[in-house]
Amino acid sequence: MSELHKFIFDGLPVRGMIVRLTDAWQEILKRRAANTGTGAYPAPVCDLLGEMAAAAVLMQGNIKFNGALVLQIFGDGPVKVAVAEVQPDFSLRATATVVGDLPDGATLSQMVNVNNVGRCAITLDPKDRLPGQQPYQGVVPLFGDQHEKLEKLSDVLEHYMLQSEQLDTVLVLAADDQVAAGLLIQRLPVLGENNLAGQSNEDEIGLNEHYNRIAILAKSLKREELLTLDVDTVLRRLFWEEQVLRFEPFVGDTGPRFACSCSRERVSRMIRSLGVEEAESILAERGHIEVGCDFCGQQYHFDPVDAAQIFTAPDAQPPVEPIVH
Ligand SMILES: [Zn+2]
Repeated sequence: MSELHKFIFDGLPVRGMIVRLTDAWQEILKRRAANTGTGAYPAPVCDLLGEMAAAAVLMQGNIKFNGALVLQIFGDGPVKVAVAEVQPDFSLRATATVVGDLPDGATLSQMVNVNNVGRCAITLDPKDRLPGQQPYQGVVPLFGDQHEKLEKLSDVLEHYMLQSEQLDTVLVLAADDQVAAGLLIQRLPVLGENNLAGQSNEDEIGLNEHYNRIAILAKSLKREELLTLDVDTVLRRLFWEEQVLRFEPFVGDTGPRFACSCSRERVSRMIRSLGVEEAESILAERGHIEVGCDFCGQQYHFDPVDAAQIFTAPDAQPPVEPIVH
């Protein structure tokens, strides 16, 4: 089962989180693979989207915010857009649009930053948005200080965290076709920092030492370890000399899990709203009606009998929500 664990280092201004998406991630890939229009993700896209999903859960877990966190990459290469969306209850979905062929073992820049104009956007969309209120959005490029192309999503996001929240962060991300996982370590702002200039500087140097030590340990975590080891083992291996205090993990009903608002029922309502004539002309042309969800890839198939039922069912009423998303 997918899980999110939060922890702190006793007495130190450092916190951490680790996420492992298993069933939730596999469901996302299964829907995509079953979509006859798109087929499965190429392996490099699968790895990128998995890292995005894991990172989005960590970022949602890191803020106190009642709304969706949406992590998007707008690419200038074959991957046009990749999106991971996580709700405050950690339900999530993710998708990517791929146009054309990818080189084997494509790098991040070969996928989304060919001309160095790809970008990454983080949007916080409040649940109870007031009229006229815009969601908050931060955008960072996919290059570093010297305009060099970044080849790791974690580097892009660390940059974002530093820029938007002024928080030193270490992120380690990894994904394959079974697991999407991530580790986040963050230096917490110290209360009263900058108040008593002389003293707090000294304190800060001392506290930074702790953060730096923990950050180095975190960065030593290998992709294979993150993908294959359970959370207890990872934390024990990395921080066995540290006083790690762990919180109740988020698993099962409270943990990360796949959710998309699409359903066969909703798609039926949409087809009903097209009207009988339109539906019949699609059936005449293609022999069936095929509707794919833009956000999770789930494909809904209606043969002529299914379609007829949509229009003859006793509950056939005027559409309530004509749009799937
Ligand atoms: Zn869907």
